[in-house]
Amino acid sequence: MSLSDYHYEVSHCHRCSYCKFVPFQVMKSRRFFQGCPSIAFRNFHSYAAGGRVILALSIIEGRLKEYTETLAKIVFECTMCGACQVQCRTYNYNLNPIEVMQELRTHLIENGQLIPEHLMVIDGLKREDNVFGEPKADRNRWLEGLEIKDINTEKADVLFHPGCRTCYDEEFWDNARAAVTILQNAGVDVGTAGKEDSCCGGRAYEMGYKGELVNYAEALAGRIKASGATKLVTPCADCYGTFKAYFPIVGQELDVEILHTSEMYDRLIKEGRIKLKKEIPMKITYHDPCKLGRRGEPGIPWEGEYKRVEPHIFAPVPEKPVKLGLGGCYEPPRDVLKAIPGVELVEMERNRIHSWCCGAGGGAMEAFEDLSTWTALERIEEAKSTGAEVMVTACPWCERNFRDAIKEAGGGFEVFDVTEFVREAMGG
Ligand code: SF4
Ligand code: SF4
Repeated sequence: MSLSDYHYEVSHCHRCSYCKFVPFQVMKSRRFFQGCPSIAFRNFHSYAAGGRVILALSIIEGRLKEYTETLAKIVFECTMCGACQVQCRTYNYNLNPIEVMQELRTHLIENGQLIPEHLMVIDGLKREDNVFGEPKADRNRWLEGLEIKDINTEKADVLFHPGCRTCYDEEFWDNARAAVTILQNAGVDVGTAGKEDSCCGGRAYEMGYKGELVNYAEALAGRIKASGATKLVTPCADCYGTFKAYFPIVGQELDVEILHTSEMYDRLIKEGRIKLKKEIPMKITYHDPCKLGRRGEPGIPWEGEYKRVEPHIFAPVPEKPVKLGLGGCYEPPRDVLKAIPGVELVEMERNRIHSWCCGAGGGAMEAFEDLSTWTALERIEEAKSTGAEVMVTACPWCERNFRDAIKEAGGGFEVFDVTEFVREAMGG
């Protein structure tokens, strides 16, 4: 679909501003009632999903012809967290603001309105197959010394996909190695794509570069087919959401079960193949990564058009799937943490489909650092308000952004990955 295909949807925005806040029905306090980081940070309507939807309408109807840097800033200064999509559902089933904003991004890129920081990422990606522009040859340094199959030479049931952040941020190597070891000790047959491993293409897509996503989706589908793997497992929520939600939208279904490591742990714990014996007496809270939660909901491609089906009714034909965010992964990481003896899990006010973003997504971390850091610190305040000693999450991008923001703010709080808790509870 292209931007103009959304004309009916964008012309039916109610201007209700529900996309800015946690729905009243679940709102718990004035302190944490905001839902959209972008409008909460800028406090100017254009920076809300509703504002961008109006921009899209103006472009489609030919009233907005001049694409300026300010327009690009408004469109891209957003974490693509999808909270607006869930909130818009409160009263409006005919509008998908997250899809509109995605098409708006692609439209601006196709019309030469580029974000310089994003362009650097894309150049690096084209050169080295990773979003940091680091040498491709360094991609597998995280697994040096680890006994693991290479699916290019041996069959494995599970293809482990680490993701660019894990491969190039040394702070997460230990986590990825622990994840592989935990799975192997539970009897899981794991392999990696070795020298063929590459980016998932999801961040490029969110920056408006759809072609990159298509290329990486096709390459991964080919590798999976050749490998005979039945499962694709990743510790990265960003990659998980890309495989589950974005690949189908660009026409690439993967012929495997897609699982986050926390889903694998949950399954293996319930089967008795992972035993969590060591007590961790700690009060913790869990942060839902957007692309594991509401944006990890399986994507259902839709090709159709809005037609007059009754004299008074215009409707999508065939019927368009409604995205509520409910199909994301919310309980498995929580169940894993709750299975650890001594752990007390407390919820933040905004959780599951209403979770506040970490600030790292949608190219914000790369181009709009102030929004990204502010968003992370808001979440840390919310985590602290629960009385939790630490926050646990399930994505290296969230962890990176939280840890950097905490450091910048002078420390005082810690963020961990689910894998670190599982390893510790297994006895190190
Ligand atoms: S995706 Fe997130 S940051 Fe962007 S408009 Fe929607 S709620 Fe706001
Ligand atoms: S995008 Fe949705 S929630 Fe936001 S103003 Fe329009 S109809 Fe309301």
